Amino acid sequence: MVAGGATSEDCVFCRIVRGEFETAFVAESDLAVAFRDLHPQAPTHVLVVPRVHVVALRDLDDDALAAGLLRLATEVARCEGLTEGGGFRVLTNDGPDAGQTVDHLHLHVLGGRPLPAPLA
Ligand code: 5GP
Ligand code: ZN
Repeated sequence: MVAGGATSEDCVFCRIVRGEFETAFVAESDLAVAFRDLHPQAPTHVLVVPRVHVVALRDLDDDALAAGLLRLATEVARCEGLTEGGGFRVLTNDGPDAGQTVDHLHLHVLGGRPLPAPLA
């Protein structure tokens, strides 16, 4: 985390959390917000993002936040009807080898179509 859990001025997800782009939240809690991915890879593709600036999963040292992120991801899946149907996938990319492009921890919630096996 950034010292003191402060937001990062230039971080795009911190800016979304602050409401600077008027991004619609599909769900939110005191710990995290959820909004649709700009380039959806599935009918449901929502990002679950902590309100505080945490760079990646390796930096997540707050158990309550870890639980809260998973809880909100599941709430999104339920609201999108995915827990009644074919199911859903939750994933995070940590670091360049995994393809992380935004350095603010986020969970992808994907569903609404059969998803290919995650390892190519
Ligand atoms: P990563 O590759 O880091 O795991 O995922 C970053 C995701 O953030 C990508 O799927 C990308 O489409 C999404 N993204 C990047 N910038 C924005 C943005 O400004 N708004 C939204 N809604 N999604 C974004
Ligand atoms: Zn950030």
